Amino acid sequence: MFVTNYAEQFKAAGYGYDDLTATGYSKINGFCFTVTIDAANRLYTLRMPCRIYNEADTEKLNKELQLFVSQRRKYIRSAIYMKNTMVIVFSMPGITVDITAGVKEGTEACLYYAKQYGAVSSCQKCGNIVETDVYAMEKEVSALCFNCFSGYHSKMAEKTYKEQNTIENVPLGIIGAVLGGLTGAIIWILFSLMGMVVFIAGALSCIAGYFGYKLLGKKMSKKGVAISLIVAFVILIAGMYFSFALRVYNAHNKSIDEWNTSYSEYYNEAPVPNISFSEAFGLVPEYFSDNIDVILHDYAFGIIMYIITAVACGAQYVRENKLKSRAVRLM
Ligand SMILES: [Zn+2]
Repeated sequence: MFVTNYAEQFKAAGYGYDDLTATGYSKINGFCFTVTIDAANRLYTLRMPCRIYNEADTEKLNKELQLFVSQRRKYIRSAIYMKNTMVIVFSMPGITVDITAGVKEGTEACLYYAKQYGAVSSCQKCGNIVETDVYAMEKEVSALCFNCFSGYHSKMAEKTYKEQNTIENVPLGIIGAVLGGLTGAIIWILFSLMGMVVFIAGALSCIAGYFGYKLLGKKMSKKGVAISLIVAFVILIAGMYFSFALRVYNAHNKSIDEWNTSYSEYYNEAPVPNISFSEAFGLVPEYFSDNIDVILHDYAFGIIMYIITAVACGAQYVRENKLKSRAVRLM
């Protein structure tokens, strides 16, 4: 497995990198730049908010940008000036994952056309021609003027205040986690009745338990994360136990029925009564020790899936928490 080190690559192009939003950013000659990453499609979008000297030249500029794209197909895929922003999309050829050259080419192009058309830096939000800086605002990195930043900042402070005053409803949250955990457990039981084992049920009960708590509990704290993950896990284990009891119940009664129809008369013995489900439930521990290989094969994967998903849920919580109250100047 290899991990793309975007921070290094952006640094080589004179950019900073915000890990939380996977955005590169820079400020050159008063212009702010951001580069967002579409990793799945290997497409990178570079934006430079600016206003050209004569807005009537927009069409002319766009024609020139189109020409530029057709002439230099090396990295640039498209280039356009719209909504007071120069937008350049680039990709790297073949399996190249180093984007430094693409970032440099896109940046140079923006600066070149800015000079040609007498562009000046402008705010990404209000469009005013004022000094801008790069700010990280919750889930995005933007080039804003100080006014817009202050506006966002106070809105966010209000949101944080509201959230701090929302009380986490733990009992309702637990009910949510139980309901969520049940979805996974029920799927497990249904499939096990058909003789199938679905590992994905392990992941599903984890996710459903986590979001079930969040939904009904109104708020998610560290305590909530722990409670929801434990509750959903207990329910998944209970579901597994239940599905095993069903197996025991079916297997036992099947052999009893076979005995009764084929041999009891032959040996002149009274028919053996079927076992009840609660008896089967009690027989499970005995079967556990006898069928440990089956359990390891069928059930352990479900539990491993659960654990992997639980770790991912925890990581998601940490990430969201970091993003939540963010309002900082990056450059
Ligand atoms: Zn503004």
